[in-house]
Amino acid sequence: MIEPPSDPPWLPTPQVAVAQLASGILKYAQQTASGDAFRLPYPANLQLALDRLTLLAWHQGAPAPASVVELLQLAQEPFGDWKIDLTGTDVDPDEALLIYGRPTAACEELGSLRGDVEGEIRENALLRAVMDKSRAHNAPQSYIAFRELLIRQPAIAAMELDARLADPDLALLADEVRQAYVEAPTEAMADGVIRTCGGCSGLRLPLDDDRTWVCEDETCPAPGTAGTDHPASEGVWWLRRELRTFITAPGRAELRIADAIGKLGVSVALWPDFDACDIAVFAERPWVADIKAWRNPVRLARRLRERLFTVSPEAERAYVVIGQEQVKAHPRYVARLRQACPPGTAGPANRGGLRGGVHRRREAPGGGRGMRQTNTIRNRFTRALRSHYTPTGDQPSPSRLMDTELCLYLLETVAAGQTAHGVPALLDGYRALWDAVPSPPADAMVRLANARALLWRSQRPYGWDELLRAYLSAPEAVRGYHLDPLGRPVRRQCSVATNRWAWYEQMLTEPLPFAATGVWFAAPGRYRMSSTARGQGVTVPDNLPPAPAPALHDLAVQTRAPIEITWQELVETARGMDAADLEAGRSSHRWEERLQDVTLQIRLADHTFGDAATLCIDRILHMVGMVSVGKSTLVTILTTWAAQHDLRITIVVGDNSAALRMAHELSRYDGVVAAPVMGQNRTRHAERLHRLQPPAPGRLVPSEPYGFDLVSTACPLDAVRDKGTPLEVREAPCQHLIETDPDAPVDGWRDGTRRTCPLWHRCQRHEAARRLVTANVWIATPWSLVHTPVPGPLSHEQMRYLEAAWRRSDLFLVDEADQVQANLDEMFASAQVLLGPSQEAWIDEIGARVAEKLRATGRAPVRSRQIRRFTTALNQARSAADIIYQLLQRDRVRAGKPVLNWLDPDYFTAWTLFNSLAKDWAGYTATKGHRPDPGWDNDPLYKFLREQFNAFIDEPTGASGEVAEGLATLAEAQLSDTEEETREDAVRQWLTELSDQVSSPGFDGELVSWFSGVW
Ligand code: SF4
Ligand SMILES: [Zn+2]
Repeated sequence: MIEPPSDPPWLPTPQVAVAQLASGILKYAQQTASGDAFRLPYPANLQLALDRLTLLAWHQGAPAPASVVELLQLAQEPFGDWKIDLTGTDVDPDEALLIYGRPTAACEELGSLRGDVEGEIRENALLRAVMDKSRAHNAPQSYIAFRELLIRQPAIAAMELDARLADPDLALLADEVRQAYVEAPTEAMADGVIRTCGGCSGLRLPLDDDRTWVCEDETCPAPGTAGTDHPASEGVWWLRRELRTFITAPGRAELRIADAIGKLGVSVALWPDFDACDIAVFAERPWVADIKAWRNPVRLARRLRERLFTVSPEAERAYVVIGQEQVKAHPRYVARLRQACPPGTAGPANRGGLRGGVHRRREAPGGGRGMRQTNTIRNRFTRALRSHYTPTGDQPSPSRLMDTELCLYLLETVAAGQTAHGVPALLDGYRALWDAVPSPPADAMVRLANARALLWRSQRPYGWDELLRAYLSAPEAVRGYHLDPLGRPVRRQCSVATNRWAWYEQMLTEPLPFAATGVWFAAPGRYRMSSTARGQGVTVPDNLPPAPAPALHDLAVQTRAPIEITWQELVETARGMDAADLEAGRSSHRWEERLQDVTLQIRLADHTFGDAATLCIDRILHMVGMVSVGKSTLVTILTTWAAQHDLRITIVVGDNSAALRMAHELSRYDGVVAAPVMGQNRTRHAERLHRLQPPAPGRLVPSEPYGFDLVSTACPLDAVRDKGTPLEVREAPCQHLIETDPDAPVDGWRDGTRRTCPLWHRCQRHEAARRLVTANVWIATPWSLVHTPVPGPLSHEQMRYLEAAWRRSDLFLVDEADQVQANLDEMFASAQVLLGPSQEAWIDEIGARVAEKLRATGRAPVRSRQIRRFTTALNQARSAADIIYQLLQRDRVRAGKPVLNWLDPDYFTAWTLFNSLAKDWAGYTATKGHRPDPGWDNDPLYKFLREQFNAFIDEPTGASGEVAEGLATLAEAQLSDTEEETREDAVRQWLTELSDQVSSPGFDGELVSWFSGVW
């Protein structure tokens, strides 16, 4: 006989998925009824149900719900109509979970397990099997041995478990014992060992600093104590999560209490009569007790009201006993429990006699990547120089030398005849050099654009003079330029890297190649997710449902031609759209009528406007019109016409919700496949979409939902993890799976190669991105174009959507062009408001929001190292800003207001300020209209201070150098000392030391007088 193929182990059971769905719906209904503004995440069980049902559907070849909203729509269908086979679930085909938008009685029954639904179901099944077997063999001792093992050994070395199973009592239950344990998780292994806890014998896991190892069990009596380290290679088993929660944690109190009573010489039995109660004291007319380890007294009260343990008739007394850990950890535990359990419902008791022998609870411890490949030529250059040049002193590295020379080459080729001092003006984009250049070459813009892409990292405009000096100090043999007496670059015959001129020409004139995306999919195996703060583990199983063959973007540059279209053609397109609406039974948009209301006028040769019957779009065309004149109508109809004529269009709109709505509406018309280019904040987009489409009162699902399939929160990979809570929306490890090596050092794992989730090409979450591949209409926002990268799995080359859209589109339509222009200006201006009343004031605004969020969440987010780093950095930035303001206030009353005078309202940087300071201290105080004599900048004190200050600017916290280091220390002290006097003393001290250090005649006096003037 041929065995039917067995289900893969990762396949969720339909029973669990349906119970989770029902439980999730009940919670969601509660939240919706509360009337609070919609917020993600969805209830854990609802999210888990989506992920699990997706895996089930894929395995069966059935369609999976795209989003939670679609899942709720599915819940309105009777189970018999579901395409997903739910065999094994105790539901009737004509039952549904929602009816008229409300949870049904079936939903209430199925969803009665509210918390860790899956865990409870599995725990019940396993315990039932253990009980049945022990009963059938009349072996209560086996049952007790099983429970004791689970309590005493939440983690156990593989060899030790084998040894324990040789014990005859346990041997009977060997299968069940093996089912109770799973392999230790990936994140528990590092340095070749797995660490256990001395307090509870469970596992210790790393915190997000990758160094601190703590017990994973929140109820552990000694979570900081180290236990045995087991070699990872020998294997360690870990008790399943639900057994740790429901058996181990409460069980510790059971064993402890039994021990304590046993020592009093009284007869005590654990779990007598196959768990009739937890403990029975005295052989005759026993006192029985149910021992509870619930952390929350109100939740425990609810459970006691629902289900109190059954007391056998022989028992003289019965107690509910609360573990000492819980009573101590929660103020007024017993009082609150009594309050929540009205008399007659249950009688909790807390017996001093029992607690007397219980161990004291020990205190818990206090608790951008670059898109372009720019290194090919740099590597060639560096190699060519290798055997000819070893920089010493201030001489630049070969790479730096090449950058400087490339700047000079740029100057030579776009602004011939200008001196080398003009280079910063070419690169910073603030000033126009063109007035000084009579006839720039035709390709000047290309050269400048390439140069800015190549040199932006290494090229600070304000440091240019130094770079140039350093360049000129390199031996002539390796340099391509010298400067003529006027400071203009002149080429030299060079014997090293003789091809450099061809290389530079290529770098500045040819499109810079894109960097490769380099996507590797994760093979089956164990990974850690670098998208989670603590690097949680996930095992990618064998035989996941295969993904369809991926379609990749065609990102070749289009040849574009002017587009000509008669008004009549547009009217016909509009008529076709009206017909499509009518046929589909949608309410009419009156496209034709609205278009007929629009009059097209074009600019004539004499700059007047005249009526026209043809619209011609050749390169850039501005369309102007009053508000509500029909411009957006024209955009829609024009797009439909263009899509129907095999053109590819990108429309730019103001926000993501508008893009989703437009994509939805446009896709209804023949020949249009529209998809939104979404920004990266999925949580925000989904929340906004929910708020824009609220369900009718008393309902859970909007009446005609759109867009939710494109902001899905599904993560089917999450469903293969053995967890009761889903990952947060932003934690999905789509391209953040790092293969684990149990022997790797603890904090080195994040350096491993990132792999992509094998479900990427199927997963609902990336539907919007995949749809863009085949869409002929893209609808984007300025932000999504500029900031969102085309996902690696859909393109071999790294680029942002802006570039992709430009390459593929025949037509770009920008709605509200002036607004979009302003957005782009804002995005690219290298300026940012930090403080002030406006919403853009970065430090003030973010500071306020972070504080509010931390407060609202009981500071829970500070668990994450990234958040901790961020808040510390933010606080320091704010302190620094406050000190600067204080300084400026004082400057107002100082003679000459030196600092305020140094601040050029249009342009100032740390460099310009320090430059003024160095100049001032070296005795070249600028008075209006007076310039120091030429050559002043060779002053040794000025040069020395500048060099030191530059080192400090480059690395304000870790600068090295005679003055810079002290300055860095001083800056740190200024930020941490709260007392103004202490801060002033520190500055005074630093200045005194500096005066001693620099031996310039007359220098002391000036420095100190400057100082006393400030404070
Ligand atoms: S692609 Fe991302 S969201 Fe989808 S299953 Fe994989 S990890 Fe989860
Ligand atoms: Zn522990």
